[in-house]
Amino acid sequence: MGTFDDQKMDVPCQKCGHKMPQTIATLKRNPLLTCSHCGKQTQVKADDLKRELDKVDRALDDLKRRFR
Ligand SMILES: [Zn+2]
Repeated sequence: MGTFDDQKMDVPCQKCGHKMPQTIATLKRNPLLTCSHCGKQTQVKADDLKRELDKVDRALDDLKRRFR
């Protein structure tokens, strides 16, 4: 399913908390982000990615129900 690839999620830096907005597609390809603030690398866990996708999924369900 490529439906969520354009969705963005904020990935917080593990060290300083600086938020790095990334699209799902980017995170699937390259889950290792380098903070532009402190240079620390943050690995996005598959679990976190999945949780974010579930959230989007539920939001879309809500939306669909509302317009039915
Ligand atoms: Zn940082």
